[in-house]
Amino acid sequence: MTSPARAVDDVLADLRARRASDAPTHGGRILSYVYDSGLAEIDRLAADASALVQPVNGLDPTVFGSVASFERDLIAFSRTAFGSTDAVGSVTSGGTESCVLAVLAAREHSGTRAGSGSIVMPSTAHAAFDKAAKLLGVTARRVPVDPVTTRVDPAAMAGAITDDTFLLVASAPNYPTGALDPIEAIGALALERGLPLHVDACLGGFALAWWPDELPAWDLRVPGVTSLSADFHKYGYAPKGASILLHADRDRHRSAYFATTDWPGYPIVNATLLGSRSAAGLASAWAITRHLGSDGFADLVADIASAVRVLVDTVRRIDGLRVVGEPSGPVFAVSADTEAADPIDPHRWADEVSARGFTLQAQPGFTQADGSVLPPSTHLTITPVTARIVDDLAAALTDAAATARGRERATAPAALVELSSAFASGAVTVDDALGLDSATTEAVLVGAGIDPHTDPAAASDALDLSAVIAAIDLLPRPVTAKMLTEFLAAFTNP
Ligand SMILES: *Cc1c(COP(=O)(O)O)cnc(C)c1O
Repeated sequence: MTSPARAVDDVLADLRARRASDAPTHGGRILSYVYDSGLAEIDRLAADASALVQPVNGLDPTVFGSVASFERDLIAFSRTAFGSTDAVGSVTSGGTESCVLAVLAAREHSGTRAGSGSIVMPSTAHAAFDKAAKLLGVTARRVPVDPVTTRVDPAAMAGAITDDTFLLVASAPNYPTGALDPIEAIGALALERGLPLHVDACLGGFALAWWPDELPAWDLRVPGVTSLSADFHKYGYAPKGASILLHADRDRHRSAYFATTDWPGYPIVNATLLGSRSAAGLASAWAITRHLGSDGFADLVADIASAVRVLVDTVRRIDGLRVVGEPSGPVFAVSADTEAADPIDPHRWADEVSARGFTLQAQPGFTQADGSVLPPSTHLTITPVTARIVDDLAAALTDAAATARGRERATAPAALVELSSAFASGAVTVDDALGLDSATTEAVLVGAGIDPHTDPAAASDALDLSAVIAAIDLLPRPVTAKMLTEFLAAFTNP
């Protein structure tokens, strides 16, 4: 089959039409995924910066000197923001890449061979570390956090360290609840055990650095912290494709490089996972940091902090809901207040908030290694633009609670409830389910009324996402992961 040529205008009109069905990226209507500064000039600046470096290959800074200079400036800007005068590092494509490289650097520096070694982190650490562990052949050990504060007890982290542990990880703040791990105490533990400590500030690093309230120390100033990651494409307001990984120690940074001359082609030296790479995210982040300067960041963070204050107070006044733990920073989560006479299901609440024009993010419950449970919750990421609509949003949160109160939690689709009983009785084992091929897995999904072939543009409306989250809570996690893989793969199958 041939693909007919089309005029440029026609192709662009098609692209625009397709974009029109996306969720709105601006205006603060979506409280996850997108980080809107509310400043139109920032978006224009990033678009122009991206266009200017469009033909460049970030692979080789000796050929494209601009790339090296942008990266140098961003490292200097970031290390100052995070309290170091001499940290080194690399700009990466995003938080996941920064986290993978942090684990790789620690593994290589410790001399641990692939297929052995472990990292120890709080339950609330980002799943990017599980991905790093899978890719790098190491074990990631999640240490239970206090289900009330959602902070980890450093003594519990100490208890999880084994002979093969080569890295401790903590978050500032974590994604699920927005709490800041006790970095100083974990740093002291790291020093005592002679282990490196990575602080994952991918989410909120560029907000916390200018946070108006006093915070416990959390960055490269803390003794024992050896590396730190922070995403420009979150609270640095850059387009997706820019994050930074800083190392306090030059040798640790160098350990993650891949360099070889041992093939017939050009000498290869990669600081990051990619080979040829776009300089668009890098140049955009550079342009934005130059334009805003630290005062510009501080102003935007002041707006975020005031909006967070209003919204957290609003939720605390709603009978039946509670703010999870003690968030300190730009994100927080909300769960049912089980001590209230009438607890509100946080996902029903999110559905009702959605009916009022704001999209919140549902998170399933999580059973920790000690059996304690982090309850199902709803996540809110607050961006500078939120400050402009904070009264509308607060009203929506309150109104939605009135409608959601008294409504039961959504139940998983009947076929999946049946499947869960089959696991419970032993009629089906997890291994049976994991052994199913793609076509059979899809048939199970379709049988449960979760049809991946729903028009992707309409799928998010057609799907009862609360029921999907309820199914995640019900089934063994590896089985859910397999089903979600099939579901998402279908979105892009031609
Ligand atoms: C977003 C995030 C990551 C992963 O970053 P991506 O840019 O999505 O790859 C890692 N850690 C935390 C805490 C995050 O919020």
